[in-house]
Formats: sequence, structure tokens, C-alpha cells
Amino acid sequence: MGHLDETAFTAAIAGCATCGAKSFEIASCLDRQVSVMLGEANDDGRWTHDGEKFIDGVYRVTCLGCGRDAYASPDCPRCHRTGGLADIVDAPSRLAVPRRCPSCQGTEVTVIGFAPARVRTGAGRPSAPAPAALLGDAGFHVAMIACDQCEWVQSADGCPLCGGPGPLRERP
Ligand SMILES: [Zn+2]
Ligand SMILES: [Zn+2]
Ligand SMILES: [Zn+2]
Repeated sequence: MGHLDETAFTAAIAGCATCGAKSFEIASCLDRQVSVMLGEANDDGRWTHDGEKFIDGVYRVTCLGCGRDAYASPDCPRCHRTGGLADIVDAPSRLAVPRRCPSCQGTEVTVIGFAPARVRTGAGRPSAPAPAALLGDAGFHVAMIACDQCEWVQSADGCPLCGGPGPLRERP
């Protein structure tokens, strides 16, 4: 579990300690899968996280009433490296997607990565996460690339989010 566990997360969005508002914007790094052909994304991709992974990737919770942060961490949400967030937000992916599979020369690969996402809570259900960066944009980090035709797989070295040496902790 990240710095923020489910209990702390629930407390953070229960109500603002300053103004009492119950609407928040949550920033999280979320798992996203994208189909790629010749190095270009076929589509915007789709989320593959669940509720626990959503909380695990949270790095900021901001009150929509007064702008106060109910939670904010400068550390990498994946490996907890101190100050790691600076190497994630608006930083380019360290793992590049090849135009062709280096093993079989196939043109289609599947990318698993992390995209920064924003979600709004308040009355009713939270909004669907909106990706703040897509594959190829700064802030989208490729964690793994797998060929659709053969067994070739490449994974990011160290932390797939911030590039830190790890160790990587278990995810929920
Ligand atoms: Zn507030
Ligand atoms: Zn990290
Ligand atoms: Zn291949």
C-alpha cells in the first residue's frame, strides 16, 4: 500500500478541514493499456486499475472549495523514493516504444504504462478518471511493452514511474 491507505484516503475526502466542502480533485498515477502499431498508438488506451490501485497511486487530494491540499506527497507513489514525483509529472517516459518488435519484426505491440489522472469527488459517484497525458506525452510512463505476435517483452528498469532504483514494493 502507498503512503495513503484506504482509511486515510476516506478521511481525506470526507470533508475539508478548512472550509467543510466535500468536493475534491484527486490526482493519481493509474495503469493504462495501449495498443500500438509501428510505434504509434492505435487509440487513447484504456484504464486497467481497480479501486485499490487507484488509491495506491494518489499523490494529491485538493479541496475544490478552498484549494487546500487534504493530502499531498512529493514522493513517488510507486516506490516511495523521496522527491520522486518531480521525475514523474511532466517528465518523458524512459522506455521508448519501438516501431517493430526487435525479435519477430511484428508491427503491433501492447504497452502497459502509467498515466496521470484526475478524478473529482463530491455529490454522487466520483467522475471517471480523465488521463492528463497519453502515450508519447510527457507524464505518461511506459512500464512494459509486449509483442502481440511473439513472446518478446521489455520492462522498464527500476521504478516504472520515477526511474528510481527501487526496491519496488508490492502493489495491492
Ligand atoms: Zn476547503
Ligand atoms: Zn518510483
Ligand atoms: Zn515479436
